[in-house]
Amino acid sequence: MIGVKEVEDPKKRVPLIGMIGGMATVGKHLFEKPVTVQYPEQRREMPERFRFRIFLKLDDCVGCTLCEQVCPNGSIKMQPVDRENPRNKRKIYPDVNFGTCTVCRNCQEICPTDAIYLTNVFETSRTRNSFTYSPEELALEEDKVKK
Ligand code: SF4
Ligand code: SF4
Repeated sequence: MIGVKEVEDPKKRVPLIGMIGGMATVGKHLFEKPVTVQYPEQRREMPERFRFRIFLKLDDCVGCTLCEQVCPNGSIKMQPVDRENPRNKRKIYPDVNFGTCTVCRNCQEICPTDAIYLTNVFETSRTRNSFTYSPEELALEEDKVKK
């Protein structure tokens, strides 16, 4: 006959070591500086190379469409803008869809006049049902853009 080994009921065991370990972890973090910040009252300093919000200098844009052509995911579309600019005879300027922009910086690299450029501004959320900034909005400071 095969002997049956008595097995201790795990429910009767007190996981003392695990409990002490858990309490020690909690206790350690109680006295540490929090890793979070109270945004937007507190703000982290962004890394030097961080880039997001694109700006456009309307007077410098010559409407060459290179930024539109080089954008890998169609985030830029040229739009007609009725403004006097002797450098931009076709009166077309880029808009940018920040919902699809991957911040690759191709548009900035290709622009022959440095009219379009990325910055470390990132608070572009808006309640309007569009992530697309018109050429005029790209020229505005972020706090002047209609949200
Ligand atoms: S940064 Fe890249 S993805 Fe974004 S608009 Fe410029 S080219 Fe397009
Ligand atoms: S922003 Fe630069 S690359 Fe784009 S259309 Fe204007 S001049 Fe050309």
